[in-house]
Amino acid sequence: MTNIVVVGGGAGGMELLGKIGRRLGKRGQANITLVDISSHHIWKPLLHELAAGSLDEGLNAVDYRVHAAQNGYHFEQGALTGIDRQRRTITLAPMTNDDGEQVLPTRHIDYDYLVLGIGAVTNDFGIDGVKAHCDFLDLTDQAMALRQKILNRFLQHAKQAEHSHFDITIVGAGATGTEMAAEMHHVADTLSGYGYDIGEDLLRVNLVEAADRIMPALTKPCLQDAVERQLNDLGINMMTQTRVTSVSADGLQTASGQFIKSDMMIWAAGVKGPEVLSTLDLQLNQANQLLVHPNCQTTTDPRIFAFGDCAACPQPDGSYTPPRGQTARQMALMVGDNLIRLLKDDDAELKEYLYKDLGAFVNLSRFTTVGNLFSFLGGGLAVRGCPARFVYTSLYRRHMLALHGLPKGLLLLALNGMQRWLRPQLKLW
Ligand SMILES: Cc1cc2nc3c(=O)[nH]c(=O)nc-3n(C[C@H](O)[C@H](O)[C@H](O)COP(=O)(O)OP(=O)(O)OC[C@H]3O[C@@H](n4cnc5c(N)ncnc54)[C@H](O)[C@@H]3O)c2cc1C
Repeated sequence: MTNIVVVGGGAGGMELLGKIGRRLGKRGQANITLVDISSHHIWKPLLHELAAGSLDEGLNAVDYRVHAAQNGYHFEQGALTGIDRQRRTITLAPMTNDDGEQVLPTRHIDYDYLVLGIGAVTNDFGIDGVKAHCDFLDLTDQAMALRQKILNRFLQHAKQAEHSHFDITIVGAGATGTEMAAEMHHVADTLSGYGYDIGEDLLRVNLVEAADRIMPALTKPCLQDAVERQLNDLGINMMTQTRVTSVSADGLQTASGQFIKSDMMIWAAGVKGPEVLSTLDLQLNQANQLLVHPNCQTTTDPRIFAFGDCAACPQPDGSYTPPRGQTARQMALMVGDNLIRLLKDDDAELKEYLYKDLGAFVNLSRFTTVGNLFSFLGGGLAVRGCPARFVYTSLYRRHMLALHGLPKGLLLLALNGMQRWLRPQLKLW
């Protein structure tokens, strides 16, 4: 039987597995294996909510092993470290527990078709001190560690007799940075309601951006204005045209000579392909992403496909696919179609990926949501408030339905909605 190995069960990978698992794996037409570093999946666009405590991983995580058993594929936990293209084998690093003891040794898995969807990591652009002193939001473990750190900082500052300030600086005013900045205010308000001694001026958030404006993905200036107004109302200090040149334990140095004193720094400024990609002997671009043909086969090896944030797929206008949730989803589902075709006929004509920008949304916690719908239609439609919030949350709902199928997906979403209503607004541990 044909062996299909998918590395990366993220926003795109899980939708691909839902599709080929049910279409091929369950019918015994292919032996499908998912490899992921983590044991469970949380939709990456929600990581800032996980870091803020607004999202409870216990309610929202999908266990890979259980999903695999129910959807016709196998799961192997581990980090991809190498590919032997001659033997068509991948290597996984040994797995260790929290005490550093080995749980599983190095493993090898054979493939006929390999699909890489290992996402991206935050780009520190080689700036001095970023890795050492900033927090990142690339992995669920990082988000959960950040949640604990944020809660401890609030506790620390609120306990002081003379209120000091809790200065937090977020670098990068794309979706991640902007949404995280708003979430911080939601956390402060909610903790106040839970009895934390938080004065009105305790939290001070700086949002630093090198470009002229925040949220460049929102192509309509009126939407950027709406986001800026809301952040202003929250008291967030937006610093555009500000380039960070180095970071130390107590703050950030900018190109203009300013020092931004900070108790905590979150780096969310741009992405690049994970380090491991540069060791695989596959063609890469400058951002360390895998170069793929429009059908998502890597330019080096037609048996290896790549999609989502770790891939750069050329478009007819000469651009490359942007690293976004909708891109990962669309590409992954198309790779699924191509695998189904290849299983029927080795020489089948493969589909080619054409990026369709369905829009961009930014959800400023409970305060507001704004976005641009159907951007591919000559600029798209500006949406704000409740309708925007509905579209934004429906993206996650669609992801859950793709993972679990319609009946189970709807039940899980209903349960999730009830749990959110019944349980505390913030997870405090
Ligand atoms: C806080 C935040 C908010 C965002 N908001 C938005 C938004 O509003 N709209 C939008 O379009 N996009 C948003 N994004 C971007 C979006 O999340 C990504 O574009 C999308 O998740 C990419 O999907 P993917 O499948 O390529 O990779 P991912 O979803 O990142 O999944 C990669 C998977 O690979 C696994 N993995 C990584 N390395 C290895 C390895 N070596 N071996 C095995 N497994 C590995 C990871 O554990 C993960 O499960 C946001 C991102 C963040 C962090």
